[in-house]
Amino acid sequence: MKVEFRKVPLNATKFEISSNSVNFLGNFSKISTKLAKLDGQIEGKCEVLCCKCGDELSLQLNEPIELLLSDGIYSSDKDEELIVVEVDDHMVDFDSILQSELESIKSEYYICDNCKQNNCEIDKIY
Ligand SMILES: [Zn+2]
Repeated sequence: MKVEFRKVPLNATKFEISSNSVNFLGNFSKISTKLAKLDGQIEGKCEVLCCKCGDELSLQLNEPIELLLSDGIYSSDKDEELIVVEVDDHMVDFDSILQSELESIKSEYYICDNCKQNNCEIDKIY
C-alpha cells in the first residue's frame, strides 16, 4: 500500500496491511508539510533463526511501532525522540516500512528452546 505524501490526511487515519502471516496496523497523520507520524503495531508470526544452532523458530510478534515519516531528507535542529524514516519519491510505502521493521526484528539474536535448555544444564553443572 502506497500513499502520496501530500495526500496524507491531517486527522489520524487508520491503515492496515498484511504480509504473509504478519499484520501491520495503526494510524498515520500529517504533522507538518514535510512530516507525518505513524503510530501502530506489527502483529503475527515471523520465522527467525536460532543464533546458536540455526534452527528456525516461530516468533510471536506484538511490536509497537512509532515513527516519523519525512518527505525527503530529514533535517531538524532539535533531536527527535522518534525514529525518522525518509520517504522516497514523495510516496509513503507501508509495505517497505513493514519489511524494514521485520528485517530489524530478524536481525536480533534469538535462542531456541533446545539451546535454552542446554544452557540451563551447563549453568547447573558450573
Ligand atoms: Zn538453537
